[in-house]
Amino acid sequence: MPLETLKDCPVCHASSFSNYLNVEDYTVSHKEFTIQQCNSCYFLFTNPRPSQEEIGRYYQSDEYISHHDESKNMMSKVYTSVRDYTIGGKVKMINSLSGKKGTLLDIGCGTGNFIQACKENGWNITATEPDNGARDIAEKRVGEYIFETINDKNLEGKSFDIITLWHVLEHVHLLNETVDWLAKHLNPDGKIIIAVPNPQSHDAEKYGRFWAAYDVPRHLYHFTKTTMKNLMGYHGLSVVRVLPMWFDSFYVGMLSTKYKNKGINLFDSIKTGIVSNLKGRSVKPEGMNTSSLIYIIKKK
Ligand SMILES: [Zn+2]
Repeated sequence: MPLETLKDCPVCHASSFSNYLNVEDYTVSHKEFTIQQCNSCYFLFTNPRPSQEEIGRYYQSDEYISHHDESKNMMSKVYTSVRDYTIGGKVKMINSLSGKKGTLLDIGCGTGNFIQACKENGWNITATEPDNGARDIAEKRVGEYIFETINDKNLEGKSFDIITLWHVLEHVHLLNETVDWLAKHLNPDGKIIIAVPNPQSHDAEKYGRFWAAYDVPRHLYHFTKTTMKNLMGYHGLSVVRVLPMWFDSFYVGMLSTKYKNKGINLFDSIKTGIVSNLKGRSVKPEGMNTSSLIYIIKKK
């Protein structure tokens, strides 16, 4: 399988990198990938990586559950029940960020549970999803046409009050083009909400190369608060708040113990999840450091 090697840092475009960590693809190929770190801005990215044309085969797994709708095993059951619980919280957050229930674009909507909740709550929804199977399910669920990508001509000239990317930006090959697109299609007072794993969390440090949220090679980037701020800054955007995601530490912990010990260690993952959340909570928004983080972004 041919891989592509990035010569320039996707954030600051410097060309000197160091190897940061070698990580196995535990779910599909079982090959090892390297996460490199830019020596100038400290951005972490999987390099080399499968090209956009090749990456599809790395998603060919039943374990990639955000694209499926059935709860087959214990991990899927945990995932779907937590997902349903957290969707309510996400809708609340969006309502608190926007003075009105306006237009919302969800990029990478999966099987559409979140947009369905937004629609029921009064939002005018638009969504994209590249996976054909997931898109079909989402279209049936919400009764709306779902675009394959943001590059669809019918999205040109549209703008949105809220744009959400729940665990999506780390998967996007054309990072700068995507962030440019977000800036261009955001209303002047609009907010972009980006949720991504946090490689500086306690659970990331504890599990090291077994940390499930590295998820190479599907995760092309591993954002920290600093590198997210820098990336947005280059595109005329600024991070206004950083919010915690409490449940990811438990879910990621369970998967991490599975990769490390060839079986889920429930006690260890719950203990680590609690410690991670306690260490990751902060009264200062910029101090928030949980397993995954939600960035609230606006135009500068
Ligand atoms: Zn850099």
